[in-house]
Amino acid sequence: MPSREKVVLDTAFFTPLERQMGAGGDFAAAYVVVHEIAHHVQNELGILGQANLIRTKVSQAESNGISVRIELQADCYLGIWARAVQAKFGTLERGDIAEAMNAAKQIGDDTLQRNAGRTVQPHTFTHGTSAQRQRWFARGFESGQLESCDTFSARQL
Ligand SMILES: [Zn+2]
Repeated sequence: MPSREKVVLDTAFFTPLERQMGAGGDFAAAYVVVHEIAHHVQNELGILGQANLIRTKVSQAESNGISVRIELQADCYLGIWARAVQAKFGTLERGDIAEAMNAAKQIGDDTLQRNAGRTVQPHTFTHGTSAQRQRWFARGFESGQLESCDTFSARQL
């Protein structure tokens, strides 16, 4: 039952997000929260179930690739949400979109691996690069349309 679904948030994560990962600002926190809600939407739409079923039948690298498409779609949905918030409430502040774009950059797999002093290994990516995360967030924000977030049919992420 959807009404029983819960989002569990570790709010202690917001401090390292800002201090160690360099993704500060209220909208960076919103990015993290709404990204999780977007997974719930994917679940309700049946997308997560299908994608995760396929993931069990393919190689690790292919499974990671599907994970990247799931995550980038969640970022795109988050962009749709940001657009809707602005349209409905007009509450986006100057700099909010820049904070979201910076958060997307800081939590990209390539940036995380590089900042951890590791070699960047694309086949291990599960969330997408900084550039991809920024691109899909921006796509959702600019279009406001679920159909524009079809990362599964996209030739280029
Ligand atoms: Zn995610």
